[in-house]
Amino acid sequence: MLQVKESVFVEDLLMVNPKLLIALGHFIMYAEKHNLPVTITSIIHDRKNVASVSRTHEDGRAIDIRSRDWPKQHVEGVIDHMMHIANHYGAISASDYERRVIIHHKVKGGGEHFHLQVSR
Ligand SMILES: [Zn+2]
Repeated sequence: MLQVKESVFVEDLLMVNPKLLIALGHFIMYAEKHNLPVTITSIIHDRKNVASVSRTHEDGRAIDIRSRDWPKQHVEGVIDHMMHIANHYGAISASDYERRVIIHHKVKGGGEHFHLQVSR
């Protein structure tokens, strides 16, 4: 099931980088196969309480998806799936110069989540 947190503007999906929609599609395909929820918690707006590590959201190149309702095996499973299928769309990290289309993390002020990110 695809849903968005109530404070998220769904219209933001019309303004993001098209590569992000492709990455999201691959993510959703994994989730559907395993009957897992896809809850979008941040797109471009709704960044007030989040200590962001980069400007990928503001640039329309990132989307956050809740992971607290996902079993650990599938957290690892979807990362593996995304790295194999869509990592060439990934953004390059400013800290280690590695390309990654998906990161699983928890930032200050937010819950544990997947951060999908694409290059310009
Ligand atoms: Zn994020």
